[in-house]
Amino acid sequence: MERSYIEVTIEKKKNIALIAHDAKKAELIQWCNDHKEILMKHDLCGTGTTARLVCEKTGLRVLAYNSGPLGGDQQIGAKIVEGEIDLVVFLSDPLTAQPHDPDVKALLRISQVYDIPIANNRSTADFIITSKFMDLPYRHTVLDYKENLRHRADFLGMYK
Ligand code: PGA
Repeated sequence: MERSYIEVTIEKKKNIALIAHDAKKAELIQWCNDHKEILMKHDLCGTGTTARLVCEKTGLRVLAYNSGPLGGDQQIGAKIVEGEIDLVVFLSDPLTAQPHDPDVKALLRISQVYDIPIANNRSTADFIITSKFMDLPYRHTVLDYKENLRHRADFLGMYK
C-alpha cells in the first residue's frame, strides 16, 4: 500500500513528556535536577505520579496527566498523535512486570510511528538532552495521516 509523508518541524521550544516506573523515579528526578537549566526552557508534562514528584523535588513546572497504570501513558500517546509532544523521556523498569505493559508498548510504537525521540534509559536521555537539536528547530518526515487514510479507504473500497 502506498504511503505518503510530510515534513514537520519540531520547534526550538519543545514539549517534553516525562515518565518513570516506580523503581526509576529517583533516577528521573536526579536526571531532571542535573539538566534543570535546559529543561526550564521547554514545556514539560508527564504521567501523574512522575509529574508530581518531579515538580515537588525539582521545582520544575510539569503538567500532570493520569497516573500511568490508569491511562497516563495512553494520554501521552494521544498527544503524540496530535503533534503536541516532541520528545519523551521514559525511564522504564526492565526488571518488574507492569500491569499496564500493553500501554507501555503502545507508547513506544506510536513514538516510532511519528518519529518522536524517546529515551528509555539515562544514557540515552543524556545524549538527547545535550544534542544540538535541543536548541534548534528540527525538521523531520512523518506519515501524512490524512493522505494515508485516503489511500487506505480507496484501497479497501476496491473490495466492496
Ligand atoms: P506514574 O506512571 O508516573 O503515575 O507512576 C508511570 C507509569 O508507570 O507508566
